[in-house]
Amino acid sequence: METQTIGDGKVVTIHYTLTLDSGEVADSSAGRDPLAYLHGAQNIIPGLESQLAGKAPGDKLDVKVQPEDGYGPRNDEAVQKVPRSAFPADVDLQEGLSFQAQDPNGHPLMGTIAALEDDEVTVDFNHPLAGQTLNFAVEVIGVREPTAEEVQHGHVHGPGGHQH
Ligand code: ZN
Repeated sequence: METQTIGDGKVVTIHYTLTLDSGEVADSSAGRDPLAYLHGAQNIIPGLESQLAGKAPGDKLDVKVQPEDGYGPRNDEAVQKVPRSAFPADVDLQEGLSFQAQDPNGHPLMGTIAALEDDEVTVDFNHPLAGQTLNFAVEVIGVREPTAEEVQHGHVHGPGGHQH
């Protein structure tokens, strides 16, 4: 069988570990199915996708992604004060607690409680990895042609991809 290399439109499976500059492991596919994504369809962050182009199964690489090519810089305007009454009364609010909210257009948005005062809650709506330099250790597991349905959906189906 001909060895496929990674390029636009290919289904790629990778194992990866994401480490922050602090040394904290933020995410890893170890012990799970490898991540499956459609190359060139913006399924994964651009700084990682661009470095995988041309690679083949068995290739291992370390990729350092700056915030601009990852989850973006932190935005101070995304830190907002919200009245305590905006939260259900029975929720035990704690600093560091993450929850799902909705933006004005009804899209889901992750918020993290940054500070608590008597009647005000400071919520950080930045992505938890915004402003972080991302250090990926990646191993390419497989490369294949997509099915017609995957092309239509713009993502990969099956283990490590969308299950629907
Ligand atoms: Zn689908």
